[in-house]
Amino acid sequence: MTVIKRVTAKSILDSRKEKTILVKIKTSSGKSFSSSAPNGKSRGKHEAKPYRKSLDDDIKTLKKFSDYFSEEIIENFDDLRRIEDIVDGHIGANTLFALESAVLKAMAEEQKKEVWQLINPSSKKLPKLVGNCIGGGKHSQISSSAKKPDFQEFLLIPDTRSVLQAFDVNQNAKLNAKIILENVDKDFNGKENDEKAWITSLDDKRVLEVLKDLKDNIWDERKLYLDEGFDAAASGFFKRKKYHYENPMIDRNTEEQLEYLSNLIKNFHLLYVEDPFHEEDFESFSRLLKRFPDRLIVGDDLTVTNYKRLKKAIEMKSVNAVIVKPNQNGSLLEVREVCKLAKENSLKIVFSHRSGETEEGILADLAFGFGADFLKCGISGKEREAKLRRLIEIECSLKI
Ligand code: PEP
Ligand code: MG
Repeated sequence: MTVIKRVTAKSILDSRKEKTILVKIKTSSGKSFSSSAPNGKSRGKHEAKPYRKSLDDDIKTLKKFSDYFSEEIIENFDDLRRIEDIVDGHIGANTLFALESAVLKAMAEEQKKEVWQLINPSSKKLPKLVGNCIGGGKHSQISSSAKKPDFQEFLLIPDTRSVLQAFDVNQNAKLNAKIILENVDKDFNGKENDEKAWITSLDDKRVLEVLKDLKDNIWDERKLYLDEGFDAAASGFFKRKKYHYENPMIDRNTEEQLEYLSNLIKNFHLLYVEDPFHEEDFESFSRLLKRFPDRLIVGDDLTVTNYKRLKKAIEMKSVNAVIVKPNQNGSLLEVREVCKLAKENSLKIVFSHRSGETEEGILADLAFGFGADFLKCGISGKEREAKLRRLIEIECSLKI
């Protein structure tokens, strides 16, 4: 039984050195538990707002509500409802996510459980890793004149359910990518972007060629299949009814975008395609999925971890996989509903980090507890590795 005696919050810096929120709760046991929220940069238009008015205002609001929490007894995941009833509409999604995460940590420790066990004690399936190896788009804003891929993320998905093995394969492939880029990209200088993916001046196709080499090398060395894909984050370069590519400079209308993507998927045997069209174009997503029913057509900015948006995407047959970013919504009870809806409709679930991350590891518990098929959280860097290492810890605990 958990009784929250005090709630405080402060701002901390994320991996991009931008402010985000850390919430700390003190329970009647005398112990403190804290959790922080990440920040997105290529945010979906329909995401919940991270803060009601501002981060500072949310900090003050939590302080004002602090005494109300002590009247509630929190015993299980459903009791998050009691928290939400208190703060309903008064704080933003980042603040609510950090608050609920801290409450889950308190409950888990006080009941001598793991956080994921509060969600589903019989969870068994480990998610496969999706690692961002090379980047472009909004996550690689180095200088306005520097060339970069238009797609935001080029992703590696080792075909193994062993998290430890997948972690190792992705780290190895990323180092291999560095060697290849040093040879093929004369502008490459070993720098990494917001998510610690390599920054390159190569265009999308050339990066996919590098990925193809990585796949071949991993196969030769380990006989392990490396699935691949990208997050186009297409809303980021869709303006005035066209997709404005800069590298090379070309505008594509919706039809041309569909053909272009179809060719890439076919020629590079891609498994995973996230946000191939802008965030209002449910129709084009569904045309692509119709052409490639055996690939993963993934909604992120399209669906924004929102029940209604996901329902529409399902009704229109726009996606067969969905990104779940808990802080796009804020309420973990609603995150559960989103996952339930996805599962009922046989969609694959991809839990995901944000580009501005903290060293919080709870995403791994949430992914495992909610039965995610994939966890997309980068390859290296202390903020990404905090989640990967937590998932490895879960994996090891299952073997005992
Ligand atoms: C993404 O688009 O998948 C992503 C992680 O971006 P951000 O966190 O910047 O919204
Ligand atoms: Mg995305």
